[in-house]
Amino acid sequence: MKETTTYYETVIVGAGAAGLFCACALGYAGTAGRARAAGGAGAAGSAGAVILEKTGAAGTKLRLSGSGQCNLTHDGSIKDFISHYGENGRRIRGLLQKHSNIELCRFMEGLGVRLTSREDGKIFPASLNSREVKEALLAGIAAAGIRIRYQTPVTGIAYIAYAAEEQGGEDDAGCESGRRFVLETPAGPIGCHNLIVATGGCSYPRTGSDGQMLFVLARDLGLTVKSPRPALAPVYVENYRYGQLAGLSFRDATLTLSDAAGTRTFRGDLLFTHKNLSGPLILNNSRYLAPGASFTLNYLAPLGEPELIARMRQDFLGNSKSPQNYLSDELGLPRRFARQLVTDLAISESKVSQLGGGQQRALAAALTAASFTVSGLGSFSEAMVTSGGVSLDELQLPRMAAARYPGLYLIGEVVDIDGDTGGYNLQFAYSSARAAASDVNQNR
Ligand SMILES: Cc1cc2nc3c(=O)[nH]c(=O)nc-3n(C[C@H](O)[C@H](O)[C@H](O)COP(=O)(O)OP(=O)(O)OC[C@H]3O[C@@H](n4cnc5c(N)ncnc54)[C@H](O)[C@@H]3O)c2cc1C
Repeated sequence: MKETTTYYETVIVGAGAAGLFCACALGYAGTAGRARAAGGAGAAGSAGAVILEKTGAAGTKLRLSGSGQCNLTHDGSIKDFISHYGENGRRIRGLLQKHSNIELCRFMEGLGVRLTSREDGKIFPASLNSREVKEALLAGIAAAGIRIRYQTPVTGIAYIAYAAEEQGGEDDAGCESGRRFVLETPAGPIGCHNLIVATGGCSYPRTGSDGQMLFVLARDLGLTVKSPRPALAPVYVENYRYGQLAGLSFRDATLTLSDAAGTRTFRGDLLFTHKNLSGPLILNNSRYLAPGASFTLNYLAPLGEPELIARMRQDFLGNSKSPQNYLSDELGLPRRFARQLVTDLAISESKVSQLGGGQQRALAAALTAASFTVSGLGSFSEAMVTSGGVSLDELQLPRMAAARYPGLYLIGEVVDIDGDTGGYNLQFAYSSARAAASDVNQNR
């Protein structure tokens, strides 16, 4: 017997943040029955749109986001967002302006999720619980009549273009124009008129996004894929000495690096972990920190090395404090860090008044220009997002439509966009999802 192909008008692959946002926005209620089975004795298809999800759960990474609190976006002007997506940020300017942070907030509030904005501009659900966001999206999808078919990985894609007359003027999905996608799944082939790929990147592969779809897109459709690399990753450095201080953080430290793009300084919060450097300052700039790269950290920014030396010279005169107490009492540095630093510099037994010029300079350098060499980046199981993915050159922006395949859309982290921490990745998932849904709806 010939294998049955079930047809849908629209298939979304991946029930992560982008897939869920997109399905909600499609609002397909009332279209059930437009799809039907073809190619044999099969039963009718179930709805106009469906989500095919590889795993047994939706929104697994969304649930983890923001440490389970879900930092949805950032407040402020959308113009300021562009600089938070590295080199590719300027290419999504129009998309972010069209589907902005304000629109995302209205959208979530429309689904009944109250939001709160923190002092640092990060926007969360007021419940500080990502479960609420996920459940609101699932309720939105159910209201729109869209089903999620779990345990249904897509392992291959065929694109078929044909003249409408060949199909008697209407294709199997009930659509007049001559194209269809046929998806290979363990449940048999699934056909559709519009295909929205929302399969994420490679980070946290245990959530289901393992990058396998990038391989399928390159192999079956010939799409250009920029090789995926971990981003928003912790950074391993040579001779790391702060494992014992895991959990210590510094507000508004700076990181300075010199590379082919010149000398750049970035500001943000720094965190010591058991094995590596982390916190927004490190995560957001890990895209610039390849193994072998050198950088310096200033724990006392904006105070620079010359100003610190001048200040110490003054403060140290006739001062009987230990260097450790001076660093924590006068400079506000964490006590455990101060202890380790003075031990490393072999000045723990002195009074500050006894420190010579060389020791003062070494202390100032260790605090304002501590140098590090990158030994490696956190792997995909530690990185929060993926840099690389389907090249923006393959897309018509801001529609998120594939330039070479009418009816194909790519949204969320599967695309070569990675944002800083602060809600920028979920904002991109939303903006790209909304753009694809609007385009599909406009062309129906
Ligand atoms: C620990 C952590 C914390 C984070 N915190 C934040 C935060 O607070 N704010 C923020 O903005 N961003 C945050 N991010 C990043 C953000 O969560 C992601 O960028 C976003 O979830 C990506 O959404 P997506 O839908 O594109 O991909 P994903 O959420 O990865 O979803 C992809 C889905 O596709 C499915 N899939 C994959 N391949 C197939 C296939 N072949 N067939 C069928 N289904 C498939 C997967 O199982 C998965 O369900 C965080 C990330 C991590 C890991």
